[in-house]
Amino acid sequence: MSDTGPVIGIDLGTTNSCVAAVEGGSPKVIPNKGGYKTTPSIVAITESGKRLVGQMAKRQAITNAKNTVFGAKRLIGRTWGSPQVIHCMETSPYTIQEGPHNDVRIKLGDKVYSLPEIASMILTEQRLVAEEYFGQEVHRAVITVPAYFNDGQRQATKDAGRIAGLDVLRIINEPTAAALAYGYGREINATVVVYDLGGGTFDISCMEIGDDVFDVISTAGDTFLGGEDFDARIIEWLAFKFAEKHQVDLRDNEMALQRLKDAAEKAKCDLSSSMKTEINLPFIWTSDDGEALHLQVEFGREELEGLVVDLVERTIRICEVTLGEAGIEPSAIDDVILVGGMTRMPMVQRAVKEYFGKSPSKAVHPDEAVAVGAAIQGAALTKDTNDILLLDVTPLDLGIAVHGGGFNVLIERNTTIPASESHVFTTARDNQTSIKVVVLQGESDRADENELLGEFTLTGLRPAPAGAIDVEITFDISADGITNVSAKDMETGVERRIVVTASSQLTEDEIGDMMAEHQDYLAEARHDDVFEEKKVELGRTLRDVERMIPEVQVAMGNSTLGANALERARVAMKNASDALDSGSKDDLETAGDALRRTLAVFKGIVERS
Ligand code: AMP
Repeated sequence: MSDTGPVIGIDLGTTNSCVAAVEGGSPKVIPNKGGYKTTPSIVAITESGKRLVGQMAKRQAITNAKNTVFGAKRLIGRTWGSPQVIHCMETSPYTIQEGPHNDVRIKLGDKVYSLPEIASMILTEQRLVAEEYFGQEVHRAVITVPAYFNDGQRQATKDAGRIAGLDVLRIINEPTAAALAYGYGREINATVVVYDLGGGTFDISCMEIGDDVFDVISTAGDTFLGGEDFDARIIEWLAFKFAEKHQVDLRDNEMALQRLKDAAEKAKCDLSSSMKTEINLPFIWTSDDGEALHLQVEFGREELEGLVVDLVERTIRICEVTLGEAGIEPSAIDDVILVGGMTRMPMVQRAVKEYFGKSPSKAVHPDEAVAVGAAIQGAALTKDTNDILLLDVTPLDLGIAVHGGGFNVLIERNTTIPASESHVFTTARDNQTSIKVVVLQGESDRADENELLGEFTLTGLRPAPAGAIDVEITFDISADGITNVSAKDMETGVERRIVVTASSQLTEDEIGDMMAEHQDYLAEARHDDVFEEKKVELGRTLRDVERMIPEVQVAMGNSTLGANALERARVAMKNASDALDSGSKDDLETAGDALRRTLAVFKGIVERS
C-alpha cells in the first residue's frame, strides 16, 4: 500500500460523515460534489442493483425504504440478539438478520451485507470526495469512533477501513479529535470537556490541553444515545396521534415509517430555531375503504422538550460520572466544547450550561471538528505538521472471567493508552496441561454482563503438581484502543501471541473477499468520476463554440475561409453531441480535442477581425 500522497481524516458518523485533510499546515474540510461539507451516512441498493451512497441514497429513501440503510453505525460490532440490535430491528424499515458469526447482517436487494461492508461504502464515498479534490488517489486515513466504542466496535470499524482499501493509520476517539481541532495552533493551557451528542452516540471526555499535549483524563458515554432516539420519540408521538384518530399504526408500513422519520427529524431541527412547526404528511395512509388519510399536526418546542427530557438528563448523568472519576468539579472546567448536530438543540445547550455553570464554547464547528481533528492527527502521524502528543484513555475495564462468575479487572478504564498489563496464571489442578482464559470488557462486576472479547485455551503445559506451572498472560491495548494478548510459559520461556477475536467478527478470508469485490467497485467509481468530468467539460466547450458562431459569421462574412471554418466546426460539434449521447471515454477525449481546436480557431478569427 502506498505510503505517500494525502492523508485524510474521516468522521464516520451515524447520520452524516465528513472528510478533512491538512494542506500546507492548515486543516481543511473537503466538500463533496454537491458542495456540502457533510455527506449523509446512508447506503442504498436500487432495483437494478446499483449502489447509492450519501445524498443520492437519501433522496430515494422513501420510495426504496426496504433497501436503504441509515444509522448503520448503531449496529456495527454488535452481537446478534443484543437489546440494541432488537431495538433497531423493531424500528428500521430495512431487514436486519443474523450473520454466520452470531453477528448482524443487513439484506439489501438480493444480497446480505456485513456492517463493516456497509461502513466501507460510506468510507469509500469520503475517499472519492478527497480523491476528486486532490486529483490523485488517496490510500491513508485516520478514522474516528465514539470514545465509548468497545473493542469489537473498533475492530469492525478498522475492518471497514481495510475493506475500503484504506491503510487506517489510527482509530481515534471523536471527542479527542474535536479537542485537537479546538486546540490546534492555539496557545492554550486549559482543562476542557468535550460534550459530543451526535446522531447515534453520546460521548463526554475531560482533558487537559497545554503545549501541544492533549491529555485525556477520563471519558464516558453511551453508544446508543443520540439524535435517532430523539427522532424515535417524535415518531412514536406522531404514530400515537394518528392511531388515536384513525385506529391504524403508521409504523406498520415501511414507506409511511420512512416519511414519519424524515418529518420527525425535520421538525426537531426546525424547533431549534423556531418555537412552533407544522408536520404535514398528506396521503400517508389509505384506509380499508380506499379513503386517503393525511397527517397534519402542530408541534411546539415545549412539547418536544417534554418528549425527550429524560434523554437530555441521561447525558448530564454521564457527565457527572466522568467528572467524578476525574475528581474534577464542573466549575473547574475552563471550556465546554460542544460537538455533534444534536448540540444545536436549545434544551441541550441549556442543560450543559446549567450543569457546568458557564456558556459552552462556540470555538469549533459541531459538524466538522471531528474530521478536522482526525486530519490533524493523520498529518502528525506522517510528520507533515508540528508534533502533537495525544494521550487518550481506554473507556472500559479490560479483564478476565474468574471462578464463580466474577470479573477480574486487569486494565482499568481511563488508563492512558497504549497500555500493557501482565498477569501470572497458575495451574489449579495436578497434571493440568491447559489453561482457559476468557477476556472481557465492560463495567459490570459480573463476567456475563460484560462484552466477551474472546477466549483461548493455552495448551501443551508440562504435567506437574497443582500450582507448579506459571503462565504469564500480557494484555495490550493499542493506541487504536484495540486489545492484543500474548502468553508466556514461564518455565520454558515459550511465548505465543494470541489473537483475541470476538466471535462476531469477520474472518480474514471474508475480509479478503470483500476487499477484492470492493476493488472492482472502486475502479468503476473512479472511472465513472473521470467519465462524468469529461462529459461536463465537453458540454462546456460545446456551449462555448455554439455561443461564438454568430461572432464568427459576422467576422468572416461570406468568405470561403469562413464557410470552411464553420463547416469544420459543425462536424466537430456533431461528433461532440454523439460522444455526449453514447460515446466511450476515448470518444469524449477525441471529440474534446477537436472542439478545443475549433474554439481556438474561432477565438483567433474574432480577435483578428
Ligand atoms: P452528527 O452525528 O453530529 O452529524 O449529528 C446528527 C444529529 O444531529 C441528527 O440526529 C440530526 O437530526 C441532529 N441535528 C442536526 N441539526 C440539528 C438542529 N438544528 N437541531 C437539532 N438537532 C439537529
